[in-house]
Amino acid sequence: MVASAEKPSFICMGIESTAHTFGVGIVGSDEKILADARDMFLPEAGMGMVPRDLSEHHTAIAADTIATALKEAGLAMDDVDVVAFSQGPGLPPCLNVGAALARYISLVRKIPLVGVNHPVAHIEIGKLTAGPSDPVVLYLSGGNTQVIAYAEGRYRIFGETMDMAVGNAFDVVARLLGLKSPGGPEIERLAHEGAYVEMPYVVKGMDMSFAGVVTDAKRKAKDGVKPADICFSLQETCFTMLTEVTERALAHTNNKEALLVGGVAANKRMQKMLRTMCEERGARMKVVDSKYSGDCGAMIAWAGVLAYMSGQRTLPKNSGIIPKWRTDEVDVTWMR
Ligand code: AMP
Ligand code: MG
Repeated sequence: MVASAEKPSFICMGIESTAHTFGVGIVGSDEKILADARDMFLPEAGMGMVPRDLSEHHTAIAADTIATALKEAGLAMDDVDVVAFSQGPGLPPCLNVGAALARYISLVRKIPLVGVNHPVAHIEIGKLTAGPSDPVVLYLSGGNTQVIAYAEGRYRIFGETMDMAVGNAFDVVARLLGLKSPGGPEIERLAHEGAYVEMPYVVKGMDMSFAGVVTDAKRKAKDGVKPADICFSLQETCFTMLTEVTERALAHTNNKEALLVGGVAANKRMQKMLRTMCEERGARMKVVDSKYSGDCGAMIAWAGVLAYMSGQRTLPKNSGIIPKWRTDEVDVTWMR
């Protein structure tokens, strides 16, 4: 369907299904994002997410999401040359939906399969959309919180959460305040009307803890502290912890650039705090394009392009999901 003169040398379809979002992205080897279709499972206000419900959601909307992505790109399934999928980390029932589908597409179409590490995909879509660089990365999402920098073939983790991810902490607090899902944007909205009340600030070396602020927020809500004050203080406390660790990583690595990625990167207060810190130490601050900050198929497709171009292929026998795949276990062959 694409005229051969304009067709990039190959087209990669990426399937994302680690947690709440089922996404299908299509990216060309010429770095163009041709499609990014997604559907996010949204629980009712006050309810959490059950992995089985998420996987049933993904299964139900998978075919439609693929059709939407192909339509958006103006392509047919026959135009797709490589299929990439989120192989981990994530919730096993959710990961299995994307993995099975990608394996099936690869088998039926006889095209290569590439298993992608989800956090690495967040980093790479950040670099693609914010401009190429070799930054200290602050990766903040619903399932992960890590301060990362590249060294010798791997994205090394300099600091991370010791318990829950910051996005998850926001979602849990939002839920206990009766706010709608996803909680992060609601916390950000309410925080504009809030004032500071002290919350537990826990940084140990380069690692952080967010479980304490959640317990404290629960207690404060019960004691009648205004929801807006809880939201404001939650943001100030968590974001200051994250900025402190990122600043230390910049100092240790002598790096002059910070890149903010992951769903929480959309938060304007987080962006401002990080930007101020960077300016004070003469570093640049970049942030992923907000269209691609949350989980999406485009980031998996782009990471698939990079991995495929550097020779990576995932054989069917190695295509099982890796629910606890860490960022620093990935061979970043395209940076060598
Ligand atoms: P991801 O797992 O990367 O898709 O990111 C989803 C997480 O980002 C969820 O925990 C959301 O609540 C959070 N999030 C999205 N937008 C914002 C925002 N503006 N402020 C804080 N957290 C946010
Ligand atoms: Mg994510």
